[in-house]
Amino acid sequence: MRETATILIVDDTESNIDILVELLGDEYDVIVAMSGERGIKIANTKKIDLILLDIVMPDMDGFETCKNLKNNEETKHIPVIFITAKTDEESIEHGYDVGGIDYVTKPFKLKELRAKVKTQIQLKFFIQHLEYISSYDQMTGIYNRRKFFEMSEKLFNAKKEDIFAVMIDIDNFKDINDKYGHPDGDKVIKAGTKTISNLLDSHSVFGRLGGEEFAIICANTSFSEVEKKVELLRAEVEKLEVIADNSDVIRFTVSCGFSKLTPDIYKIDELLKHADTALYKAKENGKNKVMFRN
Ligand code: GH3
Ligand code: MG
Ligand code: MG
Repeated sequence: MRETATILIVDDTESNIDILVELLGDEYDVIVAMSGERGIKIANTKKIDLILLDIVMPDMDGFETCKNLKNNEETKHIPVIFITAKTDEESIEHGYDVGGIDYVTKPFKLKELRAKVKTQIQLKFFIQHLEYISSYDQMTGIYNRRKFFEMSEKLFNAKKEDIFAVMIDIDNFKDINDKYGHPDGDKVIKAGTKTISNLLDSHSVFGRLGGEEFAIICANTSFSEVEKKVELLRAEVEKLEVIADNSDVIRFTVSCGFSKLTPDIYKIDELLKHADTALYKAKENGKNKVMFRN
């Protein structure tokens, strides 16, 4: 789990800030912004876990600030607690309407505020943890099948040209399992994944689709670049040496198929299917090969 949570305090009054920093500074990393604009800027550039937001501020008030944060993909998930002297029902309702998760009126009770902050931080970390385990493959740390398709679709919808799909499957993996057992088989999967991961740029979407089968979606690239890259990862995996529990050196290979997006393809699944057909050809042609299918 994460170490220390970071709280952003947005308030234009120094004495309020002092009280909050005094109250929370020991337990959390605290960052201060003295205007809504500044707060938004910080929330967009730093990793913030919770925002304590004043309402009455010159220029942009707290409601506007919150609306802005909630309309931005980068900051919409950061919980906002309003901390304000405004106690009228209308303001409180408005605070929730613009996306606040809690509303604390001044003068606040120290213990109560600390408890509310703690609850929101715990909830935030818990959600982050759930998001992590539902998105990443536990063994390899790369995207799992669900997240791979989610990210691929995003890429596919954002830019519908120069997109390639690559399917990768470890050759004769069953034999490795049979000879050395599952734990050594797992080592092979991890080593292969790490090698491939290190060769990919951050724009590529790389996931484990199941067992010993992986896929990559590459965008903003060319046929020759992808071909070179896939050939390189095949060759690098071939060079790997995994030490088995009995000290044997395990060598293994992968077969790869890749496909290019054409105007008649409307779904990422179809593009992957073409890559899978190419992968099948690579297997048929003796494995440890890279094949292309348009
Ligand atoms: P091919 O070259 O045609 O791909 O043959 P293969 O033996 O690699 O493929 P096959 O699909 O026959 O066998 C894959 C094996 O992978 C079967 C399954 O038990 C094993 N497997 C699936 N997931 C895991 C895993 O997480 N860890 C380990 N160690 N083995 C796994
Ligand atoms: Mg296989
Ligand atoms: Mg298989």
